[in-house]
Amino acid sequence: MSEVTAKPRKAIAAVLKKKLQQEANSMCPFCGNSEPGTWEFHHIDSDRGNSTYENMIMVCGGCHNRITKGELSEADVRLKKTMIMWKLSSARKKTSTSGKIKAGNLALGNTGCKIEQNVYIDHMPPPRVKAAPDSIGANAKARNYANYLARKLCEYRMKDKIFSTEEERKHAQKNYMAAIWKKVKNDFKVTSYHAVSTENREELFQHFKTLIDKTKQGKMNKGRGIKSYFLFEEYDG
Ligand SMILES: [Zn+2]
Repeated sequence: MSEVTAKPRKAIAAVLKKKLQQEANSMCPFCGNSEPGTWEFHHIDSDRGNSTYENMIMVCGGCHNRITKGELSEADVRLKKTMIMWKLSSARKKTSTSGKIKAGNLALGNTGCKIEQNVYIDHMPPPRVKAAPDSIGANAKARNYANYLARKLCEYRMKDKIFSTEEERKHAQKNYMAAIWKKVKNDFKVTSYHAVSTENREELFQHFKTLIDKTKQGKMNKGRGIKSYFLFEEYDG
């Protein structure tokens, strides 16, 4: 068997398109459009050579435009992808008789692996340790919202940095995220943000919001009267 090495702008396999359509439930995940003229497939990291399942999302033409123009940020798209992946995997769990996890390497954030035919994504990053009932970890929306703010902060901090390669950008992103979580652990004296108590929820959210507002992009948005993030009440994760 000879292996085909990665080429830029590889055509997206039909089986992958089908999977992405199924993941999106034949509906644009951003606007709910279920009858676009043609579906479009967006490379989340903007690398057209990186046509992996995790790096791709099916959207309508209009929303693809909004992404390209930056009206929807990469973090917004990643969040949406995470949400629909999660929905697909929970739907599968309900209907699956085998319940087998075949794709253990397709954990969240790992964008490096190739999708293969019949690989099922039954696996999303659930908290490994059961969260205490009065913690953020026990509340999906609070958990996702904290994650959303952290990613937004990372995105904004990286905005004015220049990376010469995609590899370099990904590496930097990893370090930025690690630093963001480390600060939470130190400030809230927890081993993971999941352990932050519900009582301190607003404080955790505010922690991120303050840092986001302090970034160059955050200040710019403020000056222009543009919101940098959804409020918890507006957030639909
Ligand atoms: Zn749309």
